[in-house]
Amino acid sequence: ADVTELKWSKAPCRFCGTGCSIMVATKAGRVVATHGDTQAEVNRGLNCVKGYFLSKIMYGADRLTQPLLRKTNGVYDKEGEFTRVSWDEAFDIMAEKWKKTLAEKGPEGIGMFGSGQWTVWEGYAASKLMKAGFRSNNIDPNARHCMASAVGGFMRTFGIDEPMGCYDDFENADAFVLWGSNMAEMHPILWTRISDRRFSYPHVKVAVLSTFTHRSFDLADIPAVFTPQTDLVILNYIANYIIQNDAVHKDFVAKHVNFRRGNQDIGYGLRPEHPLEQAAENNGKAGGSEPMSFEEFAEFVSEYTLEKAEEMSGVPAVTLEKIARLYADPDTKVMSLWTMGFNQHTRGVWANNLLYNIHLLTGKISTPGNSPFSLTGQPSACGTAREVGTFSHRLPADMVVNNPEHRAIAEKIWKLPAGTVPGWVGSHAVKQNRDLKDGKINCYWVQVNNNMQAGPNMMEEGLPGYRNPDNFIVVSDAYPTVTAEAADLILPAAMWVEKEGAYGNAERRTQFWHQLVNAPGEAMSDLWQLAEFSKRFTTDEVWPAALLDTNPEYKGRTLFEVLYANGKVDQYELTEKAREYGNHESEDFGFYIQKGLFEEYAEFGRDHGHDLAPFDRYHEERGLRWPVVNGQETRWRFKEGSDPYVTPGSDYEFYGKPDGKAVIFALPYEPPAESPDDEYPMWLATGRVLEHWHSGSMTQRVPELYQAVPDALCYMHPDDAKAQGFRRGTEVRIISRRGEIRTRVETRGRNKPPKGLVFVPWFDARRLINKVTLDATDPISKQTDFKKCAVRIEAV
Ligand code: SF4
Repeated sequence: ADVTELKWSKAPCRFCGTGCSIMVATKAGRVVATHGDTQAEVNRGLNCVKGYFLSKIMYGADRLTQPLLRKTNGVYDKEGEFTRVSWDEAFDIMAEKWKKTLAEKGPEGIGMFGSGQWTVWEGYAASKLMKAGFRSNNIDPNARHCMASAVGGFMRTFGIDEPMGCYDDFENADAFVLWGSNMAEMHPILWTRISDRRFSYPHVKVAVLSTFTHRSFDLADIPAVFTPQTDLVILNYIANYIIQNDAVHKDFVAKHVNFRRGNQDIGYGLRPEHPLEQAAENNGKAGGSEPMSFEEFAEFVSEYTLEKAEEMSGVPAVTLEKIARLYADPDTKVMSLWTMGFNQHTRGVWANNLLYNIHLLTGKISTPGNSPFSLTGQPSACGTAREVGTFSHRLPADMVVNNPEHRAIAEKIWKLPAGTVPGWVGSHAVKQNRDLKDGKINCYWVQVNNNMQAGPNMMEEGLPGYRNPDNFIVVSDAYPTVTAEAADLILPAAMWVEKEGAYGNAERRTQFWHQLVNAPGEAMSDLWQLAEFSKRFTTDEVWPAALLDTNPEYKGRTLFEVLYANGKVDQYELTEKAREYGNHESEDFGFYIQKGLFEEYAEFGRDHGHDLAPFDRYHEERGLRWPVVNGQETRWRFKEGSDPYVTPGSDYEFYGKPDGKAVIFALPYEPPAESPDDEYPMWLATGRVLEHWHSGSMTQRVPELYQAVPDALCYMHPDDAKAQGFRRGTEVRIISRRGEIRTRVETRGRNKPPKGLVFVPWFDARRLINKVTLDATDPISKQTDFKKCAVRIEAV
């Protein structure tokens, strides 16, 4: 190719929360090449294998290019065949179903499910349409399966969401401790930064804790394979070690920390009649969080001795002590990293809190290299799913729907009548599936998500809801997925650089990109779909008469006018640059809708600890880490001299809490919801692989990535395989109380489980491992535990 004809532009990678910047080459309306962005601080010119093949994800042979409705003899029929229809016909039937349900059941009868793959303004627009337009809080993102426990941990300990540190910590830490995270495969570019630090500085140590050995163990100075769920014990043991060895940073603790006896919420979020739920009710202790002294906390953790930790976790005492010493040594700067190992856990919020305990006891926080760092899965888990308020209990800027003051702030910024946003907490991800099955939700819209493959126990709890004759299910996606195939209406979606977008990565970095090419056929962005659908409703049809009687100026207006265009049409003209690139939404709607939504959203955080820069600046930068105050981004929050919100003279200030102090919680070990027994004697852990993004709907369409890892295998210990007469490649059934799948045994390869545990990735639609997983959730965050349930393995 003649490279002089290529037009190069920047865009963040659309896989994983690392937020690598990519240079994208277009030619004749197609993306033809990508390479790592050498100007980007995050990845410094590198990409992982998914990033290198990004140019191919949009060009799979089976891209969805036209709306498809199930029909028989030309009429909608739930059991009919998918039939091509126009956008008008698609929106007509959607609006008809939504209006009927709203009239019969009210806002509780509709629901929406999205993800951290929404751009910032798409998630914001979706949340606003649901919570203010339809007055329903039944919207949740896949972040419920992914980051909800991290959010719970941040809110409980610090009163404000998202990490205090940043990626600069990688070049400053003396030790890295991975808690149930396989960064070598899940955050490979950040792993190169750890590897670089480890190989350049001989004193640097890497500890890797997991329930099975994986690729990150290749770099581990301190490897530790622990019995599932006993991370809670190890964390409490380390706190005890720090106290027993006089390693508490007494001045920091006295000035900046409160101690509280933790909340003993109970229940696994299963159906009330489920035996596990009843067992939890019977064994649980109700009670709230209450203050305690340092001495009482010391006594609480004193039962977590080295001997007890070794016995329960299975990790040798010498290894446990080595890990504890990293934290206790005042001269060692420690970065702790975690993702799903902590979050997908029936006590995920506690696991997050317990790790913060250790960093707070030692004062190892908010300074370069001292960093408890919660990594994210989705490209915009932070920027979209969390920050704009797409959770069923949330509003933008960490506010919540059941707080009247927060609702009033949202209504004021949204220029909507008081009382528009309802105060009830909507159904979370797992409950939405139950509500569909039980017929409580009848209209459901899924965007940027493949939940039928991603959600737990979906064939028992999810599919019956999708196929419930009373329900109308809409799925927007770029490719046909198992979720789309279960729907009534499929809407073709534009993806990545086929639209203008913004993501927020794991270190609070907001990154923008322009639309670079057009989507194929009639595929349209999720933002366009939301805004266009909103034109089908007037306030009189969806808002109660009482609300309109007291606010007559809103009568008879479309939801598009009151939610998206309100006062913005004249204010936000498309900029010259955006016009050059093209922007199909703005061309259709007659104003720069992305800018209008972003600037409105930014009002929530400015002067409230979450300041975003003006919209146009992000198109010039390789991202900026919020809070951005006086044009400057913030690298370490809560620390004087780095964070502009810290009161001068206070050194540290955890300003998410009214008294500026973080909280150390006393929280015990609690057994998992389900453990191996005689009938189901093996642990099952699920997860991802380097080459595939989540459910594989995009990466499996890239030939190089598909061929690299075509099949989800059952990784098991050679002794376990031998004991059952399996060889490498033997076809087996993985059976749990909920379902079964077939796959083949792998006794070598990149994952090496200990005896008694198998690992199966979930990217493979032909082997739906989530037929098997348990839908037990953390009682606080409602996040599912995908990392442990009981199975047996049988030959086919
Ligand atoms: Fe970077 Fe993640 Fe994309 Fe790989 S998948 S290039 S690590 S953002």
